[in-house]
Amino acid sequence: MIKANQTETQDGSESNADQRRRVSLRQRLPSYQQYVDGILKRDRSILAQAITLVESSRREDREMADRIIESCLASTGQSIRVGITGVPGAGKSSLIEALGRFLVNDCGQTVAVLAVDPTSEISGGSILGDKTRMMSLAASNAAFIRPTPSRGSRGGVAHHTREAILLCEAAGYRNIFVETVGVGQSEVAVHEMVDFLLLLVLAGAGDDLQGIKRGVMEMVDLVAVNKADGENLPAAERTRAEVENALHFFPKASSGWAPRAIVCSAHTSLGIPAIWTSILEHHALTKANGWLDCTRNEQKRHWMHSAIEQGLKQLFNADPAIRDRLEALEREVIAGKTTPLHAAKTLLEMHSLQDSNRPIDPTRPKG
Ligand code: GDP
Repeated sequence: MIKANQTETQDGSESNADQRRRVSLRQRLPSYQQYVDGILKRDRSILAQAITLVESSRREDREMADRIIESCLASTGQSIRVGITGVPGAGKSSLIEALGRFLVNDCGQTVAVLAVDPTSEISGGSILGDKTRMMSLAASNAAFIRPTPSRGSRGGVAHHTREAILLCEAAGYRNIFVETVGVGQSEVAVHEMVDFLLLLVLAGAGDDLQGIKRGVMEMVDLVAVNKADGENLPAAERTRAEVENALHFFPKASSGWAPRAIVCSAHTSLGIPAIWTSILEHHALTKANGWLDCTRNEQKRHWMHSAIEQGLKQLFNADPAIRDRLEALEREVIAGKTTPLHAAKTLLEMHSLQDSNRPIDPTRPKG
């Protein structure tokens, strides 16, 4: 059943009311040139609208977003990109706000804050999406806070964040913080789009480094033990020493950087300048030894490949012939009449056969 506030019907098409709303909204949207000029002039409202285009799954929005990004490309790449990860409640938002305020107020810097939330691909919206975030930082003109995508298109939330990074850079933000709010794959996703990964942990929350996966520890450049204030300070110091010790067991990073562990407090600002110093030292080192350029090039290559995979998946899933056959084959697999591999091969062959018979249509949706 279609609910009154639903944008898409269950088959993915739009209700009439939503269509009318969209058309009337579109008439009030900026033109392509207004988007590009607005972004380059750091108009925060235009930048926010452009990121909304980037997050949209509608073909015309995507096409406009692609044109805008292309036009902004020459003004990108100048920022320091920092990923911030940690379990919910570790204090990521609070720390970003404290660090952002320090940068804006004490260092005269500009800051943009974005979020990667792979959970919104599944749930259609983040559970943290409504959280009022970083109010005091958001009030500053030198800062831009993009709340968690409230309704990511199916697939590609990480792609949207990458594109949002480029738009923020074009708008002149020199420090981009990407916060992970999802679980599981989010550290990997964020690691693939930043220069520096900061992991927040809490004191005394376990001897096994709070279940942090080995893979995550191998990616981090700095571990900050947060909430090192009041009575918690000695325990935070102990955890810092344990983490520091653990970091020695990992092989040296290819960047030449030796990961560190520090204590910090988003509430008292303890350790905030030290976090910033680490980020700057890492940036200077990796710029000088070529690692930064090399990694960013590799990230772009990887991004392209993952966009191809995602686009192919979308085309496959949208293929009516596949949809017709999929359920029957699923039943056959479950009934043991065919193997999962054979069923998959049948569908893939059906799809590629359809594709090779289809005339090339340049207006087909992009991935
Ligand atoms: P996130 O879920 O990782 O973004 O965590 P939040 O920033 O929302 O913080 C979770 C809770 O921890 C909030 O109640 C914060 O006020 C609290 N918190 C965050 N940083 C600190 C800190 O440095 N010290 C103390 N004592 N509490 C903190």
